[in-house]
Amino acid sequence: MKKKVAVVTGANKGIGFAIVKSLCTKFKGDIILTARDEIRGKNAVAKLKELHLNPIFYQLDITDADSICRLKEFLLKVYGGLDILVNNAAIAYKISSDTPDADQAEKTIRVNLFGTLCVCKTLFPILRPHARVVNVSSAAGMLHNIPNEKIREILLSPKLTEQKLCDIMKEFLKDSKAGLKQEKGWASTNYEMSKIGVTALTFLQQKQFEKDSREDIVVNTVHPGYVSTDMTNRKGVLNIEQGAEPIVYAALLPINITSPKGEFIWEDSKVVSW
Ligand code: NDP
Repeated sequence: MKKKVAVVTGANKGIGFAIVKSLCTKFKGDIILTARDEIRGKNAVAKLKELHLNPIFYQLDITDADSICRLKEFLLKVYGGLDILVNNAAIAYKISSDTPDADQAEKTIRVNLFGTLCVCKTLFPILRPHARVVNVSSAAGMLHNIPNEKIREILLSPKLTEQKLCDIMKEFLKDSKAGLKQEKGWASTNYEMSKIGVTALTFLQQKQFEKDSREDIVVNTVHPGYVSTDMTNRKGVLNIEQGAEPIVYAALLPINITSPKGEFIWEDSKVVSW
C-alpha cells in the first residue's frame, strides 16, 4: 500500500506553517507544505528541518489551475491519492489599503473562495476513503454577518448548490462594482463574504460526500481564533500553534466519526451552529 499523505495550502508562514509543524509529529504519512512562492516555501521547509521535522515542499498557487493540476499529478504519481487536505491559504486586505474596494472584493473572493473551490474540484477525485478535508474559515464567516435576511435564507436553503453559491458571490461582486453593497445588505467586508462562502461550501461538500462511493470522507470548516500572524498585523491573542490546534483536530478525526462532520468547528474544537 502507498504511503499516506497530507497537503496544507498557504503553509510557508502563519497558521498554515504551524499546521504542517503539528501534522509532522501527529500524522503517520508525508506532509506536503505548499506555498505559492517557491523560495518562501523552501525556506519554511528548511526551518522545520532544523527542528528535525521532514515536510516536503510543493509549489501551489490556489488561483492557478495549472499549479493545482501539477500538484494532483505529483500526488497521484508518488502516493496514488490524498488522505488529508487543509485549505488554509487566504488573503485579507489591510484597512489601510488604497486598492479600490471593488478590486479588493474581486481578488478576495477569487483567492479565498474560488481558489479554494478550484483546489477542491481538482483534488477531491483523488481523495481516498476516510480522507479528511478542512476548510479554514473564520468568525468572519458567520452567517449573521449578512444583514439581508433573503440572502441568508438562500444560503441556508437545502436547495443551495455550488453553482448557486458561485452565482450569489458573482452577484455580490456586481453590487460591489456598482457601489451597492451596503444598500443590498451584503456583509460589510469582502473578507466576511469570502469566508461565508467557504463555510457554505463546506456544508455542500459534505452532502456530496454522503453520496460518494468512497467511504467516510469528512469535511469540516474551522475558525482558528484570533491569531497573531501577518494577516492580523500580529495583533491576535493566540500564537500560531494555538491557532493550528482546532484545524489539526479536524484533520485527524478518527475513522467513521459521526460528528463533527460537515460542521463549523470553533477555536476550542467545539461545534457551533452557523
Ligand atoms: P497569513 O497571511 O499569515 O498566511 C496566509 C498564507 O496564505 C500565506 O502562506 C500566503 O502566502 C498564502 N496565500 C495567499 N494567497 C495564496 C494563493 N493564491 N495561493 C497559495 N497560497 C496563498 O494568514 P494566517 O496564517 O493568519 O491565516 C491562515 C488562515 O486562517 C486563513 O484562511 C485565514 O483567513 C484564517 N484565519 C486567520 C485568523 C487569524 O486571526 N490570523 C482568524 C480567522 C481565520 P504568501 O506568504 O505567499 O502571501
